[in-house]
Amino acid sequence: SEMPAELRSKIERRENVLGPGYRLFYRDPLEIVSGRGAHLFGPDGTDYLDAYNNVPSVGHCHPHVVEAVHRQMQTLNTNTRYVQDSLVSYAERLTATFPDELKEVTFTCSGSEANDLAVRLARRVTGNTGMIVTETAYHGLTIAVSEFSPSLGTASPLGEHVRTIPAPDRLRHIADGDLGAFLAEQVRAAAEDLKEHGYGVAAFIADSIFSSDGVFADPAGFLQPVVEAVHRAGGLYIADEVQPGFGRTGADWWGFRRHGIVPDIVTIGKPMGNGIPIAGAVFQPELTEEFGREVRYFNTFGGNSVSIAAGAAVMDVVETEDLIGNARKQGERLVDELRKITADQDDVLEVRGAGLFIGVDFVTDRESGRPDGARAAAVVNGMRERNVLISAAGKYGNVLKIRPPLVFDDADVDRFLEAFADATKS
Ligand code: PMP
Repeated sequence: SEMPAELRSKIERRENVLGPGYRLFYRDPLEIVSGRGAHLFGPDGTDYLDAYNNVPSVGHCHPHVVEAVHRQMQTLNTNTRYVQDSLVSYAERLTATFPDELKEVTFTCSGSEANDLAVRLARRVTGNTGMIVTETAYHGLTIAVSEFSPSLGTASPLGEHVRTIPAPDRLRHIADGDLGAFLAEQVRAAAEDLKEHGYGVAAFIADSIFSSDGVFADPAGFLQPVVEAVHRAGGLYIADEVQPGFGRTGADWWGFRRHGIVPDIVTIGKPMGNGIPIAGAVFQPELTEEFGREVRYFNTFGGNSVSIAAGAAVMDVVETEDLIGNARKQGERLVDELRKITADQDDVLEVRGAGLFIGVDFVTDRESGRPDGARAAAVVNGMRERNVLISAAGKYGNVLKIRPPLVFDDADVDRFLEAFADATKS
């Protein structure tokens, strides 16, 4: 369809003033003016089903969060260098959702800052600098963090102290073999190489749902031998929960729990404030003792009163609306139905995920299992034409990334499935 002249002119102004680094979603870019629940609305009132945004996790503009932020903004908004009961109460409530060992939290404004701090600490505690990540991982935008974010591509080179291991792509790497053992061996070899080059291992950091690698959740527990391998090599295990955290995987607040492991550090962000910037790193206190005494870490906006109010309100909603249970229930239904729809589609290798984090892996044919990014992009755009919003991930962009707000309800699932069946029909 022809783009309306008015929209074309808005996009031109945008490009002129923001430059080429700012990308738009979709072949047919989308203009939106408001949001509610799992829905976004265009200037003409068109209702788009949002099956992609995980930041507004409790729903776009959730009234309880809006009210809490509004009230706090009218009362006080300042930094963490004063005694404020709300800050401490929220930190206690948040850390109580983690395994006992993880007792302490530092607040930041972004996931990138949280990962940056986590790695700074891992370096100090281990005396090493080497990093191990999966081959299409994304961990953020600072210089330090972008150096171990291979999903940024060759224009943003990896650091010399960084080694990658394959994604936990069971079907393509080991079929019915032991995925955990395979990955642990990869970590062991990477650690060996880092030692030979004088870096040692500071940490293995992994997104617990491997979102940018292409969404890999199963078999639950495959991270256990990997964590053992990194510990044996003298490094820490950092669980990046920026994407899967806050209930999305449908079993617990945190995605790493599915693997039955206790990370040394966990980083959190995105859905934490439903759009108000708040993120953080959660530590085992032994790690921070020396660093905390000797290094001044002050993050001007990190953990400010309004961000904390948003964070507490998000936790209220996750609990009162049982959004972890809803993520599990709606996620299971989505996966079941998507598997039925694609059972006879030779271009879908598998439908996988946990809770409301679902991937659909497109291939040229099942026999070869060759990733087909063009097909996935066509489906993403086909869904957009049907007013349903998703995106794609993976090394070859061949995996649909379905990651709706956790308030996704029965009618939203029905509407999603109808659009999917229509958009993938051959
Ligand atoms: N880690 C992961 C797994 C992420 O997906 C992201 C953001 N896409 C980040 C870290 C960085 O978070 P932020 O954009 O808040 O800096």
